Amino acid sequence: MSIITGKTKLLGIIGHPVEHSLSPVMQNAAIEHLGVDYIYVPFPVKPENLATALHGFATIGVMGFNATIPHKQAIIPLLSEITTTAQLVGAVNTVWRTETGWKGTNTDVIGFLSPLKPLKRPWNTIKPIILGNGGAARAVVVGLGELGCPEIAVVGRDPDKLGQFKQSWDDSTLNASVTVHSWDELSGMVSESQLIVNTTPIGMFPHTENSPVDRNIWKKFPKNAIAYDLIYNPSPTQFLKDAQQQGLTIIDGLDMLVYQGAAALEIWVQKPAPGEVMSQALKQYLYLDR
Ligand code: NAP
Repeated sequence: MSIITGKTKLLGIIGHPVEHSLSPVMQNAAIEHLGVDYIYVPFPVKPENLATALHGFATIGVMGFNATIPHKQAIIPLLSEITTTAQLVGAVNTVWRTETGWKGTNTDVIGFLSPLKPLKRPWNTIKPIILGNGGAARAVVVGLGELGCPEIAVVGRDPDKLGQFKQSWDDSTLNASVTVHSWDELSGMVSESQLIVNTTPIGMFPHTENSPVDRNIWKKFPKNAIAYDLIYNPSPTQFLKDAQQQGLTIIDGLDMLVYQGAAALEIWVQKPAPGEVMSQALKQYLYLDR
């Protein structure tokens, strides 16, 4: 690690809990690679201490930070400004200091889009399916809207939450329509869909044998369809293994994690972030070192 001096600038992540965050691993690898005088540390902040923590950060000159669960929504009223992307998602994951106070955005959208954009599909004809309607699904909806997908189908298990989810988009500036569906409907929807995104935690370590999609359903997808799992541990998940067996293109959640972090670092240090260095640091930590 580079030498920390009296001039080293402070970045970090707030969460509760924050011990499992992978951001320090990839951010410090990038900081070292860039040779900039910063350090990125985890800050455990309980929900009731959020405002105090922000005041403290301003006092000690923290330059910027990431916010994770449970602070992504709660932090919004404490910021002086948020971007339109963060407004649409309804959550902030990246904050930086400005002359008038803290400004926030949501880089999960950039992260989610990073492995899709190079694929150059006719996005304005694609009707994606999103499994799950939690926090990550919101960034996915905004990303798919940005790509130009006109209609986004969301599958969830709680009719009340699904109704609220749909309403929130109907009342927004999203340039796509969102339809909501029960899990029973999934099998009948997939033959029309060239992209399915898992935003549920089903299949995550240690329950790696689980998949949100029944194995028989994969046969019904168009052959050029894409299966995208936001989960990065394990990689590939059972969901992606089954999809690959049927010839679908698969994408895991690692690039999303890396490029949401890369976008945040670029805001803080105003230099292009070394995505590949960040990815390698994470792969080594996640899949090789343990
Ligand atoms: P969240 O807000 O808790 O949302 C999870 C969603 O999955 C909810 O809609 C939940 O339904 C649904 N769900 C959970 N268990 C289910 C089950 N057994 N059957 C059906 N539906 C189920 O979590 P999140 O923050 O959106 O994160 C979701 C996943 O995305 C996690 O695996 C997380 O690691 C991953 N993620 C990855 C990245 C990345 O950078 N790669 C970024 C963010 C998140 P209910 O609302 O009905 O409970």
